Amino acid sequence: MSFTTRDAVRLYGIDGWGAGYFDVNSKGHLVVKPHRGEAAVDLMALVPKLKEKEARFPVLVRFPQILESRVAEIFEAFNKSIEEYAYAGAYRGVFPIKVNQQKEVLDPLVAAGAPLGMGLEAGSKAELTIALSRELRDDAVIICNGYKDAAYVRLALQGVALGRKVFLIVEKAQEIPLIIRVAEEAGVRPMVGVRIRLRARGSGKWEKSGGAEAKFGLTTQELIDAVDQLKRAGMIDCLRLLHFHVGSQIPEIKRIKIAVKEGARVYAKLRAEGCPIDYLDVGGGLGVDYDGSNTSYEASMNYSVQEYANDVVYFVKETCVAENVPVPTLVSESGRALAAYHCLLLCEVSGQATQGDDDEIMVPADAHDGLKGLHEIYAGMTRKNHREYWHDAEEKREVLMGHFDLGYLSLRDRALAERMMTLIGRRALQFAKEDRFVPEEFEQLEKRLVSKYIANFSVFQSIPDSWALDQLFPIVPIHRLDERPSVHATLCDVTCDSDGEVDRFVDLRDVKDSLELHALTPGKPYYVAIGLIGAYQDVMGDYHNLFGRVDEVHVTVKGKGKGTTRIDALVKGDNADDVLKIFGHDAEQMVDAIEKMVRRAMKEKRLTRSSANDVLAEYREAIEGYTYLGLGE
Ligand code: PLP
Repeated sequence: MSFTTRDAVRLYGIDGWGAGYFDVNSKGHLVVKPHRGEAAVDLMALVPKLKEKEARFPVLVRFPQILESRVAEIFEAFNKSIEEYAYAGAYRGVFPIKVNQQKEVLDPLVAAGAPLGMGLEAGSKAELTIALSRELRDDAVIICNGYKDAAYVRLALQGVALGRKVFLIVEKAQEIPLIIRVAEEAGVRPMVGVRIRLRARGSGKWEKSGGAEAKFGLTTQELIDAVDQLKRAGMIDCLRLLHFHVGSQIPEIKRIKIAVKEGARVYAKLRAEGCPIDYLDVGGGLGVDYDGSNTSYEASMNYSVQEYANDVVYFVKETCVAENVPVPTLVSESGRALAAYHCLLLCEVSGQATQGDDDEIMVPADAHDGLKGLHEIYAGMTRKNHREYWHDAEEKREVLMGHFDLGYLSLRDRALAERMMTLIGRRALQFAKEDRFVPEEFEQLEKRLVSKYIANFSVFQSIPDSWALDQLFPIVPIHRLDERPSVHATLCDVTCDSDGEVDRFVDLRDVKDSLELHALTPGKPYYVAIGLIGAYQDVMGDYHNLFGRVDEVHVTVKGKGKGTTRIDALVKGDNADDVLKIFGHDAEQMVDAIEKMVRRAMKEKRLTRSSANDVLAEYREAIEGYTYLGLGE
């Protein structure tokens, strides 16, 4: 049966998780559509251009136009809801800097968001220095989350003195007296917000950010105490914002509705207490449909951006009308939904961890009887008898391995037995899958039999949440998508760590244990893209095994219609000396040490002058080179 590019779109779930930004073209190449329109970047066609520019693989491809599109989508959704529900307040979304602190990301985000009134959220002093330096609209807000010391508070107050709307969000009760004291010392009226602990919580992986036992936020009693303290200090007019955050990546809209209703009620009751609060900040949590299933599974979301905005606007208004209080200006802190789509990692598959599979094995006439028996099992296996024959094969293997332990079987015969078992296992599995019900033993067998493809990247540097939290990211070959993939494989990275393997893949109905990939052709490169990694992953890498930041390119499409693809910038990733420095090593001292060893080896006649030069040159090259594998050399 033929396999078309539409089959590939279905197989890899591209229409689901791609959200209109990804597709497959008639050449069978994965394309990115930054505007969700006709203009598309052919990723496979990009590869030679990247090589021309001397970008090294793995390479991160950033699409700033996707960031612009995400900002527009969220603001348009809120503004549409505000109009539809005749909400008498405005929307002032902020981008949480911690989601991706890089200038390359913040620049296009702020450029797109500032005209719409977008602000920024900081979670630390360093992030606040970034937020304060950015040109935002006068009515845009800067939200200061995270625990605070006097210096953090002073910095925020300087921002207020400069005329910016910088809100100090109280995360724990002790911050109230701190803010009162520092503000009095500085002679600046602070803009204060309070984060509350809702009963409501999100769901999925980040569920514990909400609920009564959350790390941040005031209890109801602490909230009342904070109000009383501000009143006593004559600063109740400074309490302007109420904030809650029930967790990132909330897959179920129901949880959002519950949280918004509860938060809006607290807002209304505070107004009734005489607090002049006029902002309600609903935090982050707007999801990303990583598996494209559009469900309440943790890697997905069962709602759209518009539905999210509608629910926030509608339920806040409904509560305010019921409580007869004015509606607040709405703030949301969506980070993941803004940043996730805009970049992907392109990496080359460098081979397989174990040799490719045999199609047929010849068993010599004088081979061990056990081996001949395995061959007979293989030849005689049918759909009807596959289970029984598989059990027989397992028994024969045990006997053969027992013989090996006693010294009666050669290493070559043992190798033959192992290869025969793989062949028999695959055939049995093929038959097992033809039945409606696949017994557990064959499910386990399938896990053992999948191929292990080695890809030139580090899980710990490029998708740390895949390792730390089992988070799913879509992975797709960028070419041969008009060809049926014939191999089921997991993706091993190049770190010396068994955890550096991706063995969970997105699927519409389930999570797949292996990914359908193409058989590798010797001498021909095979590329895969790891998508939707622009939120958190891009900045949380941990240099495991000293694999550093990857080279990155910024790609845009310009012009009308199909447009032309442009590589606007190449940002070089870390070389070995960069990462060595981070960990306190001095590359020059290391070279000196090698030089000393080389001189001694020459003196002791273990090295000639020319080989000594080679040793030194090789060492220097390693120190100055990219930290990833140089494939195709
Ligand atoms: N606001 C706060 C207080 C957070 O802790 C987070 C992250 O968990 C966010 C906003 C961003 O959330 P998200 O990326 O899910 O939009």
